[in-house]
Formats: sequence, C-alpha cells, structure tokens
Amino acid sequence: MTNLVDFRIALFPGDGIGNEITAPTVRLLDKIAARVGGFSFTWQHCDAGADCYLDQGTALPARSFRSAAAADAILLAAMGLPTVRYPDGREVTPQIDLRMELGLYAGVRPVKPIPGVRPLLADARAHNIDYVILRESTEGLFAPQAPGIRDGDREARETMVITRATCEKLFDFALNLAAERGQQRKVTSVDKANVFIAFSLWREILMERAANHPDVTADCAYVDAFAMTMVQKPWVIDVAVTENMFGDILSDLGAALMGGMGYAPSADIGDDHAVFQPCHGSAPDIAGKGLANPTAMILSAAMMLEWLGKKHQLNDVTKAGAILRRAVEMAFVGGDLVTRELGGNAGTDTVFAAVENALERIDA
Ligand code: ATP
Repeated sequence: MTNLVDFRIALFPGDGIGNEITAPTVRLLDKIAARVGGFSFTWQHCDAGADCYLDQGTALPARSFRSAAAADAILLAAMGLPTVRYPDGREVTPQIDLRMELGLYAGVRPVKPIPGVRPLLADARAHNIDYVILRESTEGLFAPQAPGIRDGDREARETMVITRATCEKLFDFALNLAAERGQQRKVTSVDKANVFIAFSLWREILMERAANHPDVTADCAYVDAFAMTMVQKPWVIDVAVTENMFGDILSDLGAALMGGMGYAPSADIGDDHAVFQPCHGSAPDIAGKGLANPTAMILSAAMMLEWLGKKHQLNDVTKAGAILRRAVEMAFVGGDLVTRELGGNAGTDTVFAAVENALERIDA
C-alpha cells in the first residue's frame, strides 16, 4: 500500500471574487486526491488583501506570511480592491509582496485556449496555440529596491532594475521549460533593447545561458512588435521571457486571446516556493453575483498539482493535475458551456458543476 503524503497548502482567498472561487476549488482538489489516492491536503487559511488591510491594518499579516513560507505550496485566488489604497495612493498588493519576499522570479503564464471556448482570433491556426509567457516577477519596473520618487506635483520617476543574478535563474528556467515542453524548443526575449540599456544586459545574459543549451534556440523581439505577433501569428511563439511590467500587460492580452481573464491560470515559481493563482484580480464589478468564471483558478490548481508532483517525484500527484486539466477540457468541449464574459449564462456554480461532473466520468 502507498504511503499517504500530506501536502500543507497555504490558502489565500483574498478579496472580491477570490472568496467565491476558493472553496469549490478546494472541494475539487480534495475530491481528486481521494480519487487518485496516495496524497492528501491540509489547508491553512491565510488572511491577506484589501479587506484584511481594512480589518487588521496590514495587507499581509506576519502569521499569514509565516504559513506561506512554511507551506508546500501556496494557492491564492485574487487580492486588492481599487478603493483600498495605502496613504501614498498605491493599491494594496500582498500577492506582489509574496513574490518579492519568497523570491518567486518565474511567473509562468500559459496561453493555451480550451477547445470549445469561443476563440477570439479568426485564423484557424490560432485555435490550437500553446505557448508560455514567462514574466520576471521580482524586479524590472516593479523592483522594490527602486521605489518611485515623487517631487510634489512637478515630477515623478520610476526605475527599472535588471540584475544578473535573477536573469541567470530566469533564463535557465525558460530554457529548461522550452526543452521540457519539447515543441519548438525556442525562447524569445521580449524587451525594448533599442531604447533601454537594462535590456542590453538582459539580452547578453540570455545569449550566455542559451549557449549552455544547444537543444534550444534563443531569439529576441521588441515588445511592441511582439504584441502584434501575439495577435497576427501566435503559432510562432513557444516560451516568451519578459520583464515584469511587460509581462503584466502581455499576460492580460494572452488572457483575452483565451476568452477572458477567467480562463488564464498562472504560477509564480522560485527556488524553494511557489504561488499558484489566476491571472485575474478581484473583479469587484462582478463580486458577490455568482458570475465569476472559476476556470483560471481550477487550472492554476492543476499547475500546483503538476509542480508538486514534479518537485517530489510523485507520479500520482502529476497525474492528478492532468486529470483536473482533462476535466476542464471535457466540461467545455462541444461549446455548450458558455461563461458570462463570453455572452453565455454559465456562472461560477455551473462551471464548477460541469468540471465536477467531468471528473466523475474520468477513470483515475
Ligand atoms: P489586477 O490589477 O488586480 O490584476 P485588474 O484591475 O486587472 O486586476 P480584474 O479584477 O482582473 O482587473 O478584472 C478585469 C475585468 O475582467 C473586469 O471586468 C472583471 O469583471 C473581469 N474578470 C476578471 N476575472 C474574471 C473572472 N474570473 N470571471 C469573469 N470575469 C472576470
């Protein structure tokens, strides 16, 4: 009989729709663990976010941070509210604080539309795209070492930070990812090296690291041209590695190409820790109405299973991730399940029920 492995997961429901998509995702994960067998979860509920800031005066209490740092993985729904801000006007963003504090430099944002979800691009070649935007997530224009400076109402400045230490790890991650995916085996730097010197260092380091990976090619694109490529011929993209702010913007474009924010999962991965969370925010405009599409959250949970399985070399956990992914695909195949953001009437409960139903039809 296989020994039971229990994973301690720090769970951050956060704000707005985060609260609505967390509990059913946990239910799906417990269900799949029971079905596949060999592993289970202990859930540690962690307070953080805008509501937490209003209640407790901090957006990321020390106790929540300690739980996150000690956990096997972190599952986060959505945080922040446009109306809740620090005195200097910035929104509270504890999800960014977690990335900085835990060194989660590799923001993995897959762009892979689900068959059956109405594609945004007309060209049939765009319907089967499968690429990854790898967003550097600890420095660039979000670097904590370079807080913006404001001189009254006359001037304000921000600084972009690119370091060798982070670039080396990020590019190794990108090159390994391209090799593991085994598709085009290509890493594309998405930058603005024709304007900013930070990106000439960035490009140099990519080419140095790529020299150690003769099985993967590396090339470079300017971010403006790359945005067009994402729309005009996305099938040429494999792994696109980019600076923090560019990655923030391009991953929303990627989400749109998959059907909307409710379809885009992500993982923020470091050497020792990882956070899994949908790309979307707390969507206060639809919170509390049962309209949130939970697909991105469910697919982020599948990424968590795959990461845990790979890290601990537990094939059953990796398999559970693939089963969850398959259940999502089965729920949407045929095109009858249409979420509210695409003009249908499938809200949160309907999508969860369809995925749960598909899960029951899959042989574990
Ligand atoms: P953040 O900056 O925190 O990422 P944001 O300001 O980009 O957040 P979101 O909260 O992601 O904004 O919302 C952007 C739009 O997408 C809103 O119209 C919102 O209703 C919609 N949206 C976001 N998530 C979902 C979802 N899961 N299902 C349906 N619509 C969503």
